[in-house]
Amino acid sequence: MNEEYKGQKWLLHQCCGPCSMWPLDTLLHAGVDVTLLFFNPNIHPNMEWRRRMENASKAAAYYEIPLIVNPLCVPSAWRERANDGAGRCRFCYRVRLEHLAKVAHRLGIKYVSTTLLVSPWQNRDVLIEEGRRACEPYSIEFVPCDWRNGYRRGQQMAKEIGLYRQKYCGCILSLEASDFYEKIAREHDTLVLQDTLTRCDRSRLVSDGVFDEAVV
Ligand code: SF4
Repeated sequence: MNEEYKGQKWLLHQCCGPCSMWPLDTLLHAGVDVTLLFFNPNIHPNMEWRRRMENASKAAAYYEIPLIVNPLCVPSAWRERANDGAGRCRFCYRVRLEHLAKVAHRLGIKYVSTTLLVSPWQNRDVLIEEGRRACEPYSIEFVPCDWRNGYRRGQQMAKEIGLYRQKYCGCILSLEASDFYEKIAREHDTLVLQDTLTRCDRSRLVSDGVFDEAVV
């Protein structure tokens, strides 16, 4: 990591907890002053968004890094791009990185990057193009870190601290294309049910029949 970034403030877009482990490790060792931004409106369904956000938050807490969470979640916009091919991923990067640049500008932060750059499955060239494009109007630097050689190590670190490691990229189309679709859908059903039970008054649910229906 370049010495010039030592002591500099960075706003780092965080796609999820596991993917942020290696980038954070590297940046903190280099003396960078990092703030995280969780902004991923692509994630489907809402329950999965929440699960990833909570695990992103655990990673931030592990490194004692400030985290900004934007709660926007509009997965339908990705469904509408079912026929866009690779254009859908470009759109997905653009939405997230434009927001990153805007927030960095508002906070007076001059350097940004994204944890998506750790993944060997993301399109690095398009990410860099979109990152630079988003930052250009604000004279902010999008730093094209190459963290891919630490991907496995980062996933291992995530496992060691008990982070949830998802099996699909995030949007509804990547979920439907996943080899693990059935398993993931069952997990989501279970999470929705658990969430209902922990947030609601169980006795009231039993009396109005919702509990019985949910168990079935
Ligand atoms: S596959 Fe991943 S990068 Fe592409 S649109 Fe879906 S969530 Fe975004």
